[in-house]
Amino acid sequence: MGARRMDGAGSTGGTGGIDPDAIVERLIGWFDRNARDLPWRRTRDPYAIWVSEIMLQQTQVQTVIPYWTRWMARLPGVHELADAPPEVVLKLWEGLGYYSRARNLQRAARCIVDEHGGAFPHESSALLALPGIGPYTAGAIASIAMDRPEPILDGNVMRVLTRLAALEGDPRKGASNRSLWEWASTLVRTAHSTHALGDRRCSRLNQSLMELGATVCTPGARPDCARCPVSDACEARRRGCPERYPELAPRVAITPRFFATAILVHQGRHLLTLRGDTGVNRGFWEFPNWETSASESPERILGDRLGIARDAWSALPDLRHHITRYRMVQRVRLAHASPSPAAMAEAAGRGSWLWASEVEMESLPLTSAHRKLARRLPAWLAESRQLSGAPTGPTLPGQ
Ligand code: SF4
Repeated sequence: MGARRMDGAGSTGGTGGIDPDAIVERLIGWFDRNARDLPWRRTRDPYAIWVSEIMLQQTQVQTVIPYWTRWMARLPGVHELADAPPEVVLKLWEGLGYYSRARNLQRAARCIVDEHGGAFPHESSALLALPGIGPYTAGAIASIAMDRPEPILDGNVMRVLTRLAALEGDPRKGASNRSLWEWASTLVRTAHSTHALGDRRCSRLNQSLMELGATVCTPGARPDCARCPVSDACEARRRGCPERYPELAPRVAITPRFFATAILVHQGRHLLTLRGDTGVNRGFWEFPNWETSASESPERILGDRLGIARDAWSALPDLRHHITRYRMVQRVRLAHASPSPAAMAEAAGRGSWLWASEVEMESLPLTSAHRKLARRLPAWLAESRQLSGAPTGPTLPGQ
């Protein structure tokens, strides 16, 4: 039996006229049979679910699993997170990027301890007042952990609902976005309307939408409509063009950015600098680097900034990585030298510097790109010694 009420499919303000009663049961049943066994699905602890939801923002499930497992082993509850040294929190997050998420987790944990006696608040308004918790995360915690009829709308849910209704317009904006929140709310309240104690229908319904978007109604041209439990209600499938939805605004252009990055080796140690208090990666250590134009010579920049002769540098392979809309190119130069006293004095005025051994670097929080550089360093140094014919470690300046 079809599940459509044909009263506005494809309009910008409606939800495709789909009867919620007809699809909620099928979504819940499908989730029960097909849900992936993920570690945070084995718990109802709001703290554990909150951590998983924050980690999963912008990050694939398979990447998150080991991070979440390590985090929960080291910081198993809100009190441990609130009391942890910030560098421990950043170290556990190292490699996931978007580090403000980790800092907000700790700030929110401290609020929960200070203002809620260490217990997760149940009211949406109290959840939304916590740092780093927006409507999606509040809905996820309330519905998944507490089985409350609160809606969720992340990228996966948005894609499923947009296709089901063939909803036009950018679903992240304006009337389309409001329609989707209303529809998500209708669906979870429909699930709740027939709930019995302990059957967790709100949790299962919301997770079914997330799971369907992640595993069946996937982005691009090939959603697996043959496996979809609500395909007969889907307007985009009926029209033969699910790939048309959602109608997202074009991605912003990628901007290249270039950095001159210095690996300085002195007495078997490497110079690191601590990111200051304002940047996106504050609290992380990295090799000294300065942003340059595409045409500037890294040797000139590094030579001038660090007081080291330009011909002392040897080139290492560039490191390329992406952050949001930026394509970063680290042009890496190696020198067996220490900065001039004047350069060190000036640098000391701008922040902390540290000479770290390879072992010490392993325990410090490093930004992802610089962790990659640190991991490649032993091979580069070995190659550099071979090329120079040096039998042992790096020589000291002046030797
Ligand atoms: Fe997505 Fe296809 Fe299901 Fe429609 S029928 S919701 S396009 S998987």
